[in-house]
Amino acid sequence: MSGQEPFAIVLGCSDSRVPAELVFDQGFGDLFVIRVAGNIVAPSQVGSVEFAAARFGTRLVVVLGHSQCGAVTATVEELLGKSTTDSRNLRSIVDRVRPSVENLMSGRGVDDLNSLMRDAVRANVRVSANHLRHGSELLEHLIADAGLRVVGAEYSLDTGVVTFFDGVDDVS
Ligand SMILES: [Zn+2]
Repeated sequence: MSGQEPFAIVLGCSDSRVPAELVFDQGFGDLFVIRVAGNIVAPSQVGSVEFAAARFGTRLVVVLGHSQCGAVTATVEELLGKSTTDSRNLRSIVDRVRPSVENLMSGRGVDDLNSLMRDAVRANVRVSANHLRHGSELLEHLIADAGLRVVGAEYSLDTGVVTFFDGVDDVS
């Protein structure tokens, strides 16, 4: 195969149960996949999306979160004081998940941990998608002038269904 024309860029979690190509039933050359625990957005993820969008003309970016995400769980547990990490590197991931979970936890009880986890996974996807939409001049330009779209989705480990819930109804 010479060259590539992936039709979508997927920013997904490293979780072994969520391989993007298999989830979307795609083959070689179809998807430009970036995987990192918690599908967080740090500069290298933004750069990877910029690279694929600019170099290959890919116009769809999917941030793919998933149920039972370990990175989101770790963040929730830390905010509840149940665990913490000494690793600076792991901390850099938790710290990027933390603000959206913190927002979610303020003003609500944590007696229903399952529903908190569900909401936290989606909130984290929304934050990553927004970061990609607004954290890069290049991507902002492609969104405004060249039809690039960034959407957020969640894969359910229980059902195998992907639900697109962010950036799909508006025109931006
Ligand atoms: Zn995960």
